[in-house]
Amino acid sequence: MGIELSLADVPLGPFEGSLVTVYSAKSKGANLHVSRQCGQLRTSEVRTADVPLETAMLRRLCSRCAAWGVWGRPGTGLGMFLGALGGTGLLYQLQSYVEPDEDERWTDREAREAAELLRTEQDVDPDDDEEEAEGGISRREAREDAEELRGLIFAHWRGAGRSLHRAQAVLVHFPWLEEWAKPSLTVKTRYLETLRSQAARFVDPEELVVAAAATALPVPELPHADPAFAVLGGNSRVSRALVDLWHRWQSAAERPWEGPGTRAYLSYEIVRGIRSNRKGYDEARAEAARLIASWDEQARTAATLADRAHRCRLTAQIPEAPEATPQHGSRDFLDGLDTWTLGALLTWTVDADWGSGVLTLEVPDLVAERLLSPVSSLPCSPAAVAADLPEPDRSPQRRPGIVRPGVFDDTPVFDRRPVTLDHIRALRTLGPGADELYLVFSASGGAEVLPLDTIEQRLANGWLGVLIAGARDLPGSVLGLQELEQSPEPEAREARLPGRGQGVHDANFGEGLGLAEGTRRTLRQTYGTEDRDLNLRLLALARGAHDLRSLDAGRPGGLPVAVWHGLLTEDRLSLAPFRQPGSDRWRSGSGLPLGPLAAVQLYTTNASPLIEGKGHSPLCRHAHERAVVAGDDLLTVADLMARTDFDWCSKCGGYAMRRLSDTQLSYYRAAHQLHGMKGRLDGGSGIPDTEISTVIARLDELAAWHADDEAEWCGSDSWQWQDTIRELRRRVASSHAVTVLGEPAS
Ligand SMILES: [Zn+2]
Ligand SMILES: [Zn+2]
Repeated sequence: MGIELSLADVPLGPFEGSLVTVYSAKSKGANLHVSRQCGQLRTSEVRTADVPLETAMLRRLCSRCAAWGVWGRPGTGLGMFLGALGGTGLLYQLQSYVEPDEDERWTDREAREAAELLRTEQDVDPDDDEEEAEGGISRREAREDAEELRGLIFAHWRGAGRSLHRAQAVLVHFPWLEEWAKPSLTVKTRYLETLRSQAARFVDPEELVVAAAATALPVPELPHADPAFAVLGGNSRVSRALVDLWHRWQSAAERPWEGPGTRAYLSYEIVRGIRSNRKGYDEARAEAARLIASWDEQARTAATLADRAHRCRLTAQIPEAPEATPQHGSRDFLDGLDTWTLGALLTWTVDADWGSGVLTLEVPDLVAERLLSPVSSLPCSPAAVAADLPEPDRSPQRRPGIVRPGVFDDTPVFDRRPVTLDHIRALRTLGPGADELYLVFSASGGAEVLPLDTIEQRLANGWLGVLIAGARDLPGSVLGLQELEQSPEPEAREARLPGRGQGVHDANFGEGLGLAEGTRRTLRQTYGTEDRDLNLRLLALARGAHDLRSLDAGRPGGLPVAVWHGLLTEDRLSLAPFRQPGSDRWRSGSGLPLGPLAAVQLYTTNASPLIEGKGHSPLCRHAHERAVVAGDDLLTVADLMARTDFDWCSKCGGYAMRRLSDTQLSYYRAAHQLHGMKGRLDGGSGIPDTEISTVIARLDELAAWHADDEAEWCGSDSWQWQDTIRELRRRVASSHAVTVLGEPAS
C-alpha cells in the first residue's frame, strides 16, 4: 500500500523559517494561498503577508495551492525546493507507482499465462488463424490480448522506473528529506521489482544470447553466383540484395520478441518488387529462407559453444535528455533503447541506483560483448573489479553541493556560499529558473557577467566564486519595464542619420544608435509577455559585459536574438565630423576628435584581409544571424578610421556596432552640430547678422560639453575640441561683413 503524504509533512530543513508570500481573505483563520489568482480565493479584499515557512503555516494552505501552487522565486534555493515538492514533483512521485492501478489491474497469473502463450506461439505463422474453442476466443485474439498485456506491463515497468528515478534525483539535492522519504521509496522499489519480474517473464534469456551471437557473427561468404537468385538480375544486384538481407537479419536480432517466425518472413524481402508468378520467384525465396535458417543455425551454435558459466559485470548509464526536468520531463524514461537491450536490463540487472540512473548487470560474455560494442544503444562499461566497495559516504558534510539558502539569491550577498557544479546541476534539473546570464563575483575576476555554461566550465576547472544575481533576480524598478510597456512608441524610433530623418539639431538626432532604442528594439522583437520581462533583464545584464564575445559559452542556444539587437546595431555612424579637412569643400571633414566614440566596439565575423571571406555582421543572414561568438573579431571605431583594407559584405556592411552609451550619443550629436556650423561657414554663405547671437550661444553650449566620465575625454581631445570652437567663434564674429544669405551645406 502507498503511504499518503502531504506538503505539511515534509521536513523543511534549512528552509524552515524562510519568508514566503501568501494571500488570504481578511477573516480570521482563513485559508492561505500561494497564488493571488487561486480560484479558491473568492474575495476582492485580499491580504498579502510575508510569513515564515513552517509546518503550521503549511497546514493552513488551501488544498489546490498545496498541490499545484507555484511559489518561491524560480532560481532561488527556496523556489527550487518548493518547486521540487509540488506539481508532478517529489510528493506526486512518491505516491505514484506504489501499487497496481485501479483501472489497469492484472493478476500475476494472467501475466504468467500471457508470457507462456506468446512463448509457445511465436513460431506460428501470424496469418494462420484457426478458430480454437477456448471460450470462443480465437488464437489470434488470445495472442493479441497477451501482446497488449505485455505492452501494458512494460509501460508500467518503465513508468515505475522513471518515477523512482525522478523521486531519487530530487532527493539528492535535499538530503534532509531522505529519512522521511525512505518508507515511500521502499514501497516504490518493491512495486518496481514486481513489475520487473512480471516483464521479465516475457523475455527468453536464451533468445537474447542467440541474438547477441547473431550480431557478433562476421559477414559470411554470400552465394552471389547461386543460379537460384538469377531472377533478381545481374551479379551486382544479387550481391547487393544478399548483403542487404544479411543486415536485415542481423538487425532483426535486436527485436527478439518478433521471434524466428518473423525472421523467416525476411525471405520475402529479397523478392520484393518481383511478380510472384514470375519464373524463378519461388526458387529465390526458398533459397533465401534456407540461407536465413542457416544463419539462425550458426547463431544458435555460436551461442551454445560460448562460455555460459562466466558472468561479466557491467554498469549501464540510462541515457537522460539533458533538458528534462522533473516538472517538464515528457520524454519517456528508457526511451531510445531497443527491445533486446530492454530485455537484457530486465533479465540481468543485479543492482540499480535509479536516482543516478546507473544499473549494474551480470551478463554472459556474449551479451557483454554486444552491450559494450559501439552499436549498443545503452552506454555500458565494465564494472569496477572490487564489486563490494564500501558504500560511498553520503553524510551531508561530504556533500557540499546540496541546495540550501545562501547559494542563490535568497540571502544577503555578505552570506553567500561558493557555488559548485552540484548547484548548477540542481539549477538545471530542478528548473525552470536557470538564467542564461549571471552576475558573479570571485577574488580572481571581480564582478563579471557570465553565461551559466561558462560558470559551469570554470567550476570544472576549480574556479571559486559566488552567484550574486541571475537575470530574474534583478530589481524591476531599475529596468523600468512598466514605463516601457505603457509609453507609446516614441516618434524617435527611426534612426536619425544625416540625410535620413531630421537634421542634426533635432533633439533625437542619432537616437537609433543608442541604448534606449536598443531596449525598444529588444521589446519589439520579443513576443511572449514573460519573455519581454526576461529579455530586458538579460539585456541589462549583458550590457555590463566588457567584451560581448565573453557571452558566448561555445554551446548552441545562448542569448535570444532579440537581446542581441538590443546590444548591437547594424546602423552606421556618420564619421564626417571626425575626418580630416580635405580639399573637397562639400564633403570635407572637420577634424574633430573621436573622443568617447573612439572606443565604440564593432563586431565582425572577419576583420583580417589575410583570412579569406568577407566580414559580416554577426547578425547578418550570411552569418546565419548567429550573434556574436568567441571567434569573432573585435574592432573599435578608431581602428575603422585608421584602416582601409577591410573586405566587408555589401549587404550588412561587414560589422555590427555596439550601441552608443548616453555619453557617446551626446558627444555624437554635439560633434555633428559643430560640424554643421563649420560646414555653413566653409560654404562661404556666412551667418546673417540676426542669427549671430544664436550661433555664438550655441557654440558656448558646445564648448561646455564634457563627458560624464572624464576618462572618456582626454586632455588632447578637449584641447582640439575647444580649439575648433574658438576658431569658429572667431570666424562668426568676423562674418559681420558678409551679407549674402545662403543655405548651409548639407
Ligand atoms: Zn489556493
Ligand atoms: Zn553580411
